[in-house]
Amino acid sequence: MIRINENYQKLAASYLFSEIGRRISAFAAANPDKPIIRMGIGDVTEPLPPACIKAFHEGVDEMANRATFKGYDNNGVGYDFLRKLIAENDFAARGANISADEIFVSDGSKCDTGNIQELFANDITIAVPDPVYTVYVDTNVMAGRTGANENGRYDGLVYLEANEANGFVPAVPAQKADLIYLCFPNNPTGATASREQLTAWVEYAHANKALILFDAAYVAFIRDPKIPQSIFEIEGAREVAIEFRSFSKTAGFTGTRCAYTVIPKDLVAYDKSGKAHSLHAMWNRRHTTKFNGVSYPVQKAAAAVYSAEGQTQVREITDYYLRNAAHVRKVFTELGYACTGGDNSPYIWVKVGGDSWDFFDRLLNEQQVVCTPGAGFGRCGQGYVRLSAFNSYENVVTAMERISKILKK
Ligand SMILES: *Cc1c(COP(=O)(O)O)cnc(C)c1O
Repeated sequence: MIRINENYQKLAASYLFSEIGRRISAFAAANPDKPIIRMGIGDVTEPLPPACIKAFHEGVDEMANRATFKGYDNNGVGYDFLRKLIAENDFAARGANISADEIFVSDGSKCDTGNIQELFANDITIAVPDPVYTVYVDTNVMAGRTGANENGRYDGLVYLEANEANGFVPAVPAQKADLIYLCFPNNPTGATASREQLTAWVEYAHANKALILFDAAYVAFIRDPKIPQSIFEIEGAREVAIEFRSFSKTAGFTGTRCAYTVIPKDLVAYDKSGKAHSLHAMWNRRHTTKFNGVSYPVQKAAAAVYSAEGQTQVREITDYYLRNAAHVRKVFTELGYACTGGDNSPYIWVKVGGDSWDFFDRLLNEQQVVCTPGAGFGRCGQGYVRLSAFNSYENVVTAMERISKILKK
């Protein structure tokens, strides 16, 4: 008899974005004449930078010619031309010492942040932020590292609460954790972590022989020069951290697919007897066993992000979204709502009070604007909503005009 992995039965029943989709469809079916503006999405709306499109085309042409045709790439870890550009531009240029062979190119950070847990024992203690990017939690639930879900929290996980009191940057917990998920600039809160705050986490990891998984998917939105862009800018991080980066939000690659994971060669984790093992070697084994690489034209397109034109164009696109974010933040602030994010992040986390789903329904039903209810990201998200800057400026202005009509206090 074929049997199931019963851990899947523990997953919280309603997936946030399918419930949002259901409510939007129901409203649209009943009100076909009322145009909806979606400010809830975590997906980019601007096309790829022209420099990437040009390189993408060139890559396709090379595949059409026997002399330049490419088959499998380098065991699937990424072409050297791309890994070198990443090491130089994203790390060396910021004083972080990362070599090209510590970079594993992949088709997405969702997969990487979801798959990385395969390297670790089942009885480790895992700390996750609340509110959280749900991939970190659900992939550990599927692997059987949690108990049941009671009142929106899984038994066995340590929840790192992000709230007004700590400025939405969780402090290190009093208890021990072995694996810690951090995401800055944060999805969903838009909060960023300072050098001092990240240093405290690196010190905690050293003290506890723990590992930090640092998701920097939104790094391209950081404008404040004091905010670290990489965990590897923090001294001692090479021994205790893995970093995930993606071209999705940086350069509009959500539909093109390219990301990378940085695993320093110094990084170790321990077996039962306390013997240290290289995580770089283990991830290399896993990646080359289960993955066969990102397509050549896509890696060419990703490399073009680092050209002079690519850098200018990526900056223009992220500036465009940041202008949207600033407008959303300004209007909500003027209406008297406390906001986080929206300056070094495309997300604005608005304190609306009460039930986040009620606020969601009100915006949708009364003004046809879609936000994301904070409660869908965890218990600490109750009373908040996430607004996304991924839309046209015109739509953002219209959405904020509509919202202002009903929220004037
Ligand atoms: C969008 C996003 C990613 C990127 O995912 P891809 O699979 O690379 O598109 C990673 N982490 C967070 C928190 C995100 O919001």
